[in-house]
Amino acid sequence: MAAARRCRAPRRGPGRGPGPALLALAGALAAAAARPAAWSASRGRAPRSGTGRVARAAKGGGAAAVQEGLAARRPGSGGRRGGGPSLQQVRPGQLEYDRQGGLFGAIANEMKADEARRTVVAVLGAALGGVFVGTLGQQYQIAQKAFRRFYISPPAERSMNAFFPTALLADDVNRAVSDVLGKRGYTSQNTLYAQSMCPDEINSKAQELVALMQGEWGEAFALGGLAGLPFAGKSGFEAFLHHTPVDGKILICFAPHVGINADGVVGSHLREGQVKSSTACGAAVGAFNAITKPGGGNSDNDLGLAYDAQEKYIVENLRPLLPGIEASQDKIAYVTYQTYNIARDLMLDTLKGIPDIYDWCDELAVVGGIMINRNKGGDFFQPLTFEAKSRDGVLTDLYQQAFGPRPELAQVLGSDAKAKQVLSPGGW
Ligand SMILES: [Zn+2]
Repeated sequence: MAAARRCRAPRRGPGRGPGPALLALAGALAAAAARPAAWSASRGRAPRSGTGRVARAAKGGGAAAVQEGLAARRPGSGGRRGGGPSLQQVRPGQLEYDRQGGLFGAIANEMKADEARRTVVAVLGAALGGVFVGTLGQQYQIAQKAFRRFYISPPAERSMNAFFPTALLADDVNRAVSDVLGKRGYTSQNTLYAQSMCPDEINSKAQELVALMQGEWGEAFALGGLAGLPFAGKSGFEAFLHHTPVDGKILICFAPHVGINADGVVGSHLREGQVKSSTACGAAVGAFNAITKPGGGNSDNDLGLAYDAQEKYIVENLRPLLPGIEASQDKIAYVTYQTYNIARDLMLDTLKGIPDIYDWCDELAVVGGIMINRNKGGDFFQPLTFEAKSRDGVLTDLYQQAFGPRPELAQVLGSDAKAKQVLSPGGW
């Protein structure tokens, strides 16, 4: 239902289309679309062509991404339908020129005036719809990458870059994983995908990682519980395993999450329709608060965990990882990385406990990291592991190929040992 809520028409006046600057910008985008290298993705990747798996998945229907784009095309919703300057009036090369502050300055002002970032990006996507070859979802991602600098919150961006230094936009992560695995023969037809994410609704926004990965691979088996830990366990994983296509492949993505609000506070997120930020991940921050509260006890009853099996597991496993937190740069960032450690260990222990995995698939790949929920500018993902193990027992580290150098985390976490614990190979 949250997706439907977000599909509402943008908050503009009835019948009012995008401002002249937005329409002129659409022209600039159209001109630049002929030169993909001009599109600087968050880590320098050019957009994928319209023939990729994302395009097929979006065409397949049902994706919230498509609905969101369609919402922007509704009459009065801001989609470009006549009026405004001709797209052909914008010259190639104008995009770079305008970055100096001319047209883009006007765009930035319009974006600042509109708090609904999705609305703005959807309007831009719809404006591009008539001229750019690609799906509505692709248009959304391209517009977001091009314009996020004009409407993000600088404190949030600074916090993210400080504590999650090589985080990537969700779309770039999805494409990087898909490109690397595509070269290893993974397709949406021969691959069964599972994800282990926290059930918090902020993780299921259209155009963010959960939706993008599911769209990329077609279906998703849900292994995750609170904080993104794979609480489905051995029984859940075996059920998933037995659904694998014959001689097929398995992809698993696991990721605890953390919000960063507009003030740059880690572990906090302003949710739609609310006026105050709340915790994200509530399960991880809640466990931390329960352990560290003044006079906090150790028994289940003292922590109120008697009927709270998943939270109890998080508390029990987080407690021994907290020594050392005082040397970290941010307590909740530290807690989030420890939650990642707990999720990874539970995931890999589960895999190690199933001896017949390769009777059901010929290769299994695991991507792990931390999802970062942002109020503006798109959600990010800090990759921390990406490995594949084949039926013949060969374990291949795919991290650098997909994401580049690993992040430097010693300062963030307060010691080399803590950084090593997060970044060490899983050894499964
Ligand atoms: Zn959560």
